[in-house]
Amino acid sequence: AKSAGGNRFELADPEADARAITRHGLTTALPTALERGEFFIEYQPLVHLGDGSVRGAEALVRWLHPQHGVLGPDRFIPLAEHTGLIVPLGRWVLEQSVRQAREWRELHGGVGAVGPLRINVNLSPCQLTHPGLVQDTVDILERTGVEPDALCLEVTESALIGANDDLLKPLRRLAEMGVDIALDDFGTGYSNLANLRRLPVSVLKLDRSFTQSMQQFPADPVDLKIVEGIVSLAHSLDLAVTVEGVETGAQAEQLRLLGCDTAQGWYYARPGPPERLHELALADATG
Ligand code: C2E
Ligand code: CA
Ligand code: CA
Ligand code: CA
Repeated sequence: AKSAGGNRFELADPEADARAITRHGLTTALPTALERGEFFIEYQPLVHLGDGSVRGAEALVRWLHPQHGVLGPDRFIPLAEHTGLIVPLGRWVLEQSVRQAREWRELHGGVGAVGPLRINVNLSPCQLTHPGLVQDTVDILERTGVEPDALCLEVTESALIGANDDLLKPLRRLAEMGVDIALDDFGTGYSNLANLRRLPVSVLKLDRSFTQSMQQFPADPVDLKIVEGIVSLAHSLDLAVTVEGVETGAQAEQLRLLGCDTAQGWYYARPGPPERLHELALADATG
């Protein structure tokens, strides 16, 4: 329930009441959490399906709350969007992640044949409509000396459904600079596939639900056909395909056979501290 009227009904339900109190507590603590340095970022590797090498990582934000411990983004991103904190928080995540990518590049200079590690950062729809997005991104890349093509910004498919040109303009500018744009959670938003041509995206991130349907080996023939169709359409439009939520070797193998390019999931590694990503990439480069 979003309205005040909704809250009145929630009071009749003790569990919802407790949730509302927690939500209230989080809402009051959220605005100062950034100043207090309570957010941190975990990194989950992005692995090339063809050769198994680590190519980069997705940055995933967490909140170390003084009373509630570590909170996942699902607990506070909606609140941050509602209160407007998402703009400074998102900018902080972007800067931290790009700095981290810079550090990895220094550590990995010349190591391995796959080139420097790349960084993926999630963008909320509120950041897309914020006028500072392009300039903030340019400033961060300049300050850190990281090339635009080392950065990929992830935007959900649902955020771009029915997007008009005003919304796409900043993404187009970023794409022209060389920043990759990924369409996140693809396949959940019922977008018109033909619409893809209009969007300045270079990567499709296939939603976890597709990966889940690859649990059996061989998977359901209809599911296989659907993924096969999406992959061939994506490739014909020059888009790379990343799959998320890969938890087993069987899923990885089927998705590789279907032509997916990159994978992410617990099968490879859970999100973790930056040192962990460095270790994985290093182990990889040295065999
Ligand atoms: P997402 O962008 O779809 O990120 C993938 C989520 O799947 C992450 O959850 C990740 O921990 C989880 N995951 C990874 N591998 C597996 C797997 O093999 N199996 C399963 N079951 N799950 C896996 P997390 O970290 O809780 O993030 C949830 C969502 O919060 C993200 O979904 C993203 O939409 C949002 N989010 C995270 N960080 C940020 C951020 O900095 N800014 C914004 N705006 N949103 C963020
Ligand atoms: Ca994402
Ligand atoms: Ca996703
Ligand atoms: Ca998802």
